Amino acid sequence: MAQLYALYDRIMSCIPKRTFLSMVNLLYFAGILPSWDNDRYALAFAAEWLHMTPEIAYGCLHHLHSVLYIPPTPEDAVEESVEVHHKSFKDYLAKRYSGAKEEFEKVALDAAVAILKEISQKGNVTDPQPWECLMLCWPNHDCKEGLYYGASGTIQSSKLTCSRTISRDSDTIQALRVMTPCKIGLDYLPLESSLDTWLTEDVTVVHVLKELQVFQPAQVGNLDLDRIWESWEDFHVLYFSKYPSQVSPRTQAQIVCNDYGDCVHEWETSIKKGNHYLTMRTIPWGQCRCCERLKNDLMNAQANTPDTIVATWTGGDGWGLVIYDFVDPDNQEIEWRYIMPCAPPGYGCL
Ligand SMILES: [Zn+2]
Ligand SMILES: [Zn+2]
Ligand SMILES: [Zn+2]
Repeated sequence: MAQLYALYDRIMSCIPKRTFLSMVNLLYFAGILPSWDNDRYALAFAAEWLHMTPEIAYGCLHHLHSVLYIPPTPEDAVEESVEVHHKSFKDYLAKRYSGAKEEFEKVALDAAVAILKEISQKGNVTDPQPWECLMLCWPNHDCKEGLYYGASGTIQSSKLTCSRTISRDSDTIQALRVMTPCKIGLDYLPLESSLDTWLTEDVTVVHVLKELQVFQPAQVGNLDLDRIWESWEDFHVLYFSKYPSQVSPRTQAQIVCNDYGDCVHEWETSIKKGNHYLTMRTIPWGQCRCCERLKNDLMNAQANTPDTIVATWTGGDGWGLVIYDFVDPDNQEIEWRYIMPCAPPGYGCL
């Protein structure tokens, strides 16, 4: 093995310094470096993420023909991915670049932010196909929509998005204005998908997003609730408590998910966030009995306290979120947050 690794070291040492980092990044997106476990990208799509033309991408891989299968032409690269000739090269890279997975969080987020930077906002007009203005680098490769959704999912899933938002990084904030909250093809993200991370990694981010007017205030009385119920995206129910063991009477009274008494959408373990403990459950598509409480709360607010303020966010394609914060009526030490998806106007009626 030592002999083999010495051989791989020699091959890697032939790669010019000026292209080394680009080569490493390309191998990340191509799924050769230890990055994530999802479906691997074809070479052309991996290169598009990094805004690399075929010339640049092939230049980066030039010294690696002896260890990698590289799709022979740019046309082949639209369908085919890069492969290792021998698994030992992948093991070698995993060993040599043991910090790669962590480093890739940053590379993936930077790439996603750069992709969304190309999308301009047209005032308050939402464009159902905001990806159309993306510029591609690869010939005969229509992947604009995939890049837009991939970049949006990456920004939502990255553990670094919260801290960049809180530090008011302008490119990140611009990306938050034009991305979509809509999830398609989670297997297709270049990192582990976890779409609530941009709002839950550091929960004070919601306050910052309100200040920056990425989130807009709205009165519950003016919401079209059908746009929420008919969105068929994930609903998140969170509560913040002073102590990890603290349980709201509302939580104890939780409705079970089905007739068998199982809870399909379990509360996750409480996590310490600042001075509070965060406990969350996710209800996919909001289509479960355990989502009734949330629905009732919102309908009650609309009927009885219509001037209650909620935060709304509209992504670049018209999809969005509604965030409703309130203090637990049974225990003032507990605060609730409902993060609810919202379809574009008229969506359910089409
Ligand atoms: Zn492409
Ligand atoms: Zn969707
Ligand atoms: Zn449920």
